[in-house]
Amino acid sequence: MSVDPAAAPACKQPAGVIAPLVDLRRCEGKGDCVRVCPENVFTIERIADADYRALGVLHRLKQRVHGMMVAHTPNADACRSCGLCVSACPEHAITLGRIQRPSIL
Ligand code: SF4
Repeated sequence: MSVDPAAAPACKQPAGVIAPLVDLRRCEGKGDCVRVCPENVFTIERIADADYRALGVLHRLKQRVHGMMVAHTPNADACRSCGLCVSACPEHAITLGRIQRPSIL
């Protein structure tokens, strides 16, 4: 799927409030999120060993079929909640959620 980042809806949040969450049971590493994100939040890299081991048998098999590559979010703090990645992902693997920060008392 191609989505023109220039046609992105107005950003809904300042950076650092909302971040994308990738469901590794669904992600197939196709990279649509990388292509559409105007903030360069995503990379496609090999699934981490711990994340792979945490998957069930069927999802591990699916990962092997799809080359063990998944979306990572090294720049998640830059997300501005435009929603383009959610719309672009053909596997419906991305949701947006509020970043949880430890409270300082
Ligand atoms: S909502 Fe998705 S596409 Fe938009 S800035 Fe955040 S990570 Fe990037």
